[in-house]
Amino acid sequence: MKCRICGKEAFVKLRSYNLALCEEHFVEFVRRRVEKAIKKFKMVSKEDHILVAVSGGKDSIVLWHVLNELGYRTTGYFLNLGIDEFSNKSQKIAEEFANRFSLELKVEYLRDVLGVGIPEIARISKGKPCSTCGMIKRYLINRAGLDYDAVATGHNLDDESSVLFGNILHWQVEYLERQSPILPRDRTLAKKVKPLVLLTNHEIKLYADVLGLPYIPDSCPFSTGATTHYYRDILNTLEERMPGTKIRFYMGFIENKKGFKVKEKELKPCERCGYLTTAGICSFCRLRERIKIQFNLR
Ligand code: SF4
Ligand code: ZN
Ligand code: ZN
Repeated sequence: MKCRICGKEAFVKLRSYNLALCEEHFVEFVRRRVEKAIKKFKMVSKEDHILVAVSGGKDSIVLWHVLNELGYRTTGYFLNLGIDEFSNKSQKIAEEFANRFSLELKVEYLRDVLGVGIPEIARISKGKPCSTCGMIKRYLINRAGLDYDAVATGHNLDDESSVLFGNILHWQVEYLERQSPILPRDRTLAKKVKPLVLLTNHEIKLYADVLGLPYIPDSCPFSTGATTHYYRDILNTLEERMPGTKIRFYMGFIENKKGFKVKEKELKPCERCGYLTTAGICSFCRLRERIKIQFNLR
């Protein structure tokens, strides 16, 4: 099997594109996919200062690496969720990466913000903290992102297509409408972009491994059994049988999305923090109040 670009021995065959590539041209392929997503969806420009949400996992590390290689101005943001070993290891990786490439990294500790970490929140949410954790991350990443032109997150094609699959399966039209590789700035909502949407999990992992980038291999101890994992497995089975299914499914949706227009809920400033919400008091402030009572915090 030869690389289609240079004719050297190929090390990977991307079945979705019927494309064999050597290591060097595979790295170039990944960067071109990111550049293509950025241009196609008009995500950011070279003048913008981008806050990259870094978790220490392969997706956000690859995202930060590629944006830097492409010449974008970036600062990393790491939120320490207080999940003991896991959070500390992830933080070390984010710091190691930032040092290696002389990049700025901002670190925020959930324990400083709320007085507790995810393990305590798991106790008050019957052991399943993921939806609360997701809400906390969205809130704090958004808050940090308001000082920048855009916030970039490492959502990839597998994440986006499995979420899409779930939303269609349950006809969650409201979520469908908001599912987009770019969300523009709206008052206290920072602009959000997902430059990895045209790349699969497998391609991203390969890029990190070929270049020897550091990333945390273990998943969060709370991550077992999420429904999206089933959807991901189903899509992987389809992809195996019909290469290119995921990208056609996702891009087909994005291109035909206008049909899913729903009446948007009105956003109003939260009575406590002032950030936009559909409720009187936003979920983050409600959680903060609940934690204060439950844990006797001031
Ligand atoms: Fe948070 Fe759940 Fe992800 Fe762990 S797996 S980081 S608890 S959302
Ligand atoms: Zn080549
Ligand atoms: Zn609030």
